[in-house]
Amino acid sequence: MPIYEYRCECGVRFEQLVQRTDAAAPGCPRCGGDTAKIPSSFALGGRADAGLSREQMPQTWKGTYGGDREYVSGLRRQWDKREKLEAHHPELAGDSRPIVAHEGRYEGNPLRAGDPGAPGHGHGHGHGHGND
Ligand SMILES: [Zn+2]
Repeated sequence: MPIYEYRCECGVRFEQLVQRTDAAAPGCPRCGGDTAKIPSSFALGGRADAGLSREQMPQTWKGTYGGDREYVSGLRRQWDKREKLEAHHPELAGDSRPIVAHEGRYEGNPLRAGDPGAPGHGHGHGHGHGND
C-alpha cells in the first residue's frame, strides 16, 4: 500500500496509508478539516511544476497573441489550477503586490506598492495623513 502525505489548511501535515489511489483524502487529525494530498514531488522535497507564476502570465492583450481563444482558455485553466494550488501551498503565491519598479537597483528585488520608497506610497509606514 502506498503512503501518501496530506496537508491541511491549518498547517498539519501527516502521512496516511491508502488502499486505493483514488480514495478520498482523509480528514485532518487536528481540526477535522479537508486535506489535500501533497504531490509526491513535494513530499520528496522537490518543487512540483506549478505552471506559470502570476508574474509570468501575460499581462497584456498582446501577450495573449491577440486573444487567441485556445491560448486564453488554456491560460485560464492554468490560472485556476494555480489558484487551487496556492490555496493549499501558500508559499507558492509569493508577493502579489503590484511591482512599481523593477529596473536599476530594483532588479532582482522589485520595489512593490506599499514598500518604503515606493511612489504612491501606502499608509502603513508610520506617519499619519490626518489633520492632527
Ligand atoms: Zn487541520
